[in-house]
Amino acid sequence: MRVYSIPMRTRFRGITRRDGVLIHGPEGWGEFSPFPDCGPHECARWLAAAREAAYEGWPEPLRDRVPVNVTVPAVGVEQAHEMTRRSGCRTAKVKVAERGQTDADDIARVEAVRDAIGPGGRIRIDVNGGWNVDHAARMIRTLDRFELEFVEQPCRSIEELADVRRRVDVPVAADESIRHAEDPLTVRARGAADLVVLKAQPLGGVRTALRIAAECGLPAVVSSAVETSVGLAAGLALAAALPELPYACGLGTLSLLEGDVAMDPLVPVDGEIPVRRPDIDERALGRYEVDGAEWRHRVAQAQALLDAQPVIRVLR
Ligand SMILES: [Mg+2]
Repeated sequence: MRVYSIPMRTRFRGITRRDGVLIHGPEGWGEFSPFPDCGPHECARWLAAAREAAYEGWPEPLRDRVPVNVTVPAVGVEQAHEMTRRSGCRTAKVKVAERGQTDADDIARVEAVRDAIGPGGRIRIDVNGGWNVDHAARMIRTLDRFELEFVEQPCRSIEELADVRRRVDVPVAADESIRHAEDPLTVRARGAADLVVLKAQPLGGVRTALRIAAECGLPAVVSSAVETSVGLAAGLALAAALPELPYACGLGTLSLLEGDVAMDPLVPVDGEIPVRRPDIDERALGRYEVDGAEWRHRVAQAQALLDAQPVIRVLR
């Protein structure tokens, strides 16, 4: 078990460093990196994903490359333009409604990204639940001037998502609303989304996420939890094993970190990531390794929960 702490290039979800644990097993390395606000039951699911990676491995891939989007955080217009242009990606995900930003900032950022990606590129926005229904309906109509592929989690609750979806033509994706095994079914039953965002770690691993996708029946897009190459490899395995993959995935997030722990990091090449599982580079890991006693405690706590009940129960 190795604990890492890597600075972020840009503040993201309110954090400036990404911390976590890498666990080694017979199948390779697994990553356990729940965010600071994850409670014990959530952490148990993240650990189930790390254990699957280290001890079970993943299902056979159905494709050997996964198209990815560039993620544009709440940066200024020049940086947004530059990040999009340099990424080589044909799809961009633009973060909006971040604290300290105005609607005008968000509109200017999306406009800059449209300019950089050109008329053939795709743009989705990620609101992280930051708007109420009226604000969402108004902003989505305004931003659709720049042609939106979909809008990710415009509001916090499933009821609000359903309201927004009735009021706008742009497809709605549920992200934060999908954290438990039964959530996709609820989202579908309430008519709250056109597609779901799946993340391997929070859902408890690749197999669980695949089962959830199958039960839900809505199109899925895979995103990372802003992990090192070790965690990203699980997302990549999930994207590679989904029967249908209609959207570019949010797995091109390694550039948000200052560095990585892998020999050959999982970065996009011409907007795609080849499906593979990189090895740890001891020198790179050494640069970011920390003692992290509190992380050992978090792992032990999550492990005790997993031992006490099967994963499927923890998921409820
Ligand atoms: Mg999101």
